[in-house]
Amino acid sequence: MNKDFNNWLINEVNGIKKKNLHRKLIEIESSMSPEISIGKKKYIQFASNNYLGMTTKRQVISRSSKILEKYGTGTGGSRLVTGTSDLHNKLERKIAKFKKTQDAIIFSSGYLANIGVISSIARKGDLIFSDELNHASLIDGARMSKANIIIYRHCDMTHLEDELKKIKSNVRKIIITDSVFSMDGDIAPLDEIVSLSKRYNCISMIDEAHATGVLGKDGSGASEMFGVQKNIDICMGTLSKAVGSVGGYVAGSKVFIDFLKNRARSFIFDTSLPASNLMTSIVAIENIQKSKKLREKLFFNINSITNFLKENNFEYVSSGTPIIPIIFGSEIKTLKISKFLFDNGIYIPAVRPPSVPKGSSRIRITLMSNHTLKHINKLKALLKKLKAFR
Ligand SMILES: *Cc1c(COP(=O)(O)O)cnc(C)c1O
Repeated sequence: MNKDFNNWLINEVNGIKKKNLHRKLIEIESSMSPEISIGKKKYIQFASNNYLGMTTKRQVISRSSKILEKYGTGTGGSRLVTGTSDLHNKLERKIAKFKKTQDAIIFSSGYLANIGVISSIARKGDLIFSDELNHASLIDGARMSKANIIIYRHCDMTHLEDELKKIKSNVRKIIITDSVFSMDGDIAPLDEIVSLSKRYNCISMIDEAHATGVLGKDGSGASEMFGVQKNIDICMGTLSKAVGSVGGYVAGSKVFIDFLKNRARSFIFDTSLPASNLMTSIVAIENIQKSKKLREKLFFNINSITNFLKENNFEYVSSGTPIIPIIFGSEIKTLKISKFLFDNGIYIPAVRPPSVPKGSSRIRITLMSNHTLKHINKLKALLKKLKAFR
């Protein structure tokens, strides 16, 4: 190996370690259920985005494995060459119906969807208005475009409007926000985003990664919850969280989806998803649409933990979603707390910069519909102990 390069790498990694920001991968030897296996030991996890337990649902697995047998393991090409099967088209139609838009398109991941969309619609001289807590994939997409980026304070619509007012010229303006924020779990005020977009002639784009399957009467997301499905120009989300599969989707008008098929580089130059994964998404979305039961169970658990944190004076974010962070601030303290939980059989990783702003390190609890009373009570008991020894 190149010696200077090697020394530089060692130096960089040591720097990360000194700041208590070094991360290691934890190897999990089981499915992503509330109980997982790490190093041959069982743990209860409150860390996954598999909110509805969809990844282990029997019906989803059996219908996907039939497709795996029939279509094989891969597509051998990008969507524009050999990579479009009937299931790709079927899933896209299903998502358009689910999201109440004219059309939809599937990317291989939400990350790829975001960079593909933003870099293809935002041009030099355009303005992107971005919430300060937006997901990294939105930030990266904005950076890839040649547009100017204006960051507004988290969910602060007054600040956003102040920034919009300053723009006199007729440039293209795009407002981009997570609908549910990935690290805080709170919900963006989509009604106000829509009305500001109208008033200031902006394009609106929302990221429903954590809202899909969770919010709204039919579970299609926060845009449904606010009743603004028809007013958002670009609605994207992932199939890898509550849907329990893999892939990213974008829902919008016919001409917009057609444009993306021709211009989004992360769509054009990327091998398409295998058919079995698409079947997973199709069956999962059918389940989400047809039954409220999983969402009801999920919200029962959300309310149970939220009430507990409130009663016990924890510094938490009251989000109304399955993401409930408890903020401790310092990296070391958060790491210690995460370790204490782990030593007692509960896996919740410490979330530190750059995932969250400096000084706001936290343990980020995420809940699933199939967490049982036993799981929830064990978490509560440990958090109580934590309060006692702090
Ligand atoms: C997870 C996530 C993504 C990325 O989706 P993947 O399908 O995992 O690539 C994008 N945006 C937000 C807000 C996310 O939480």
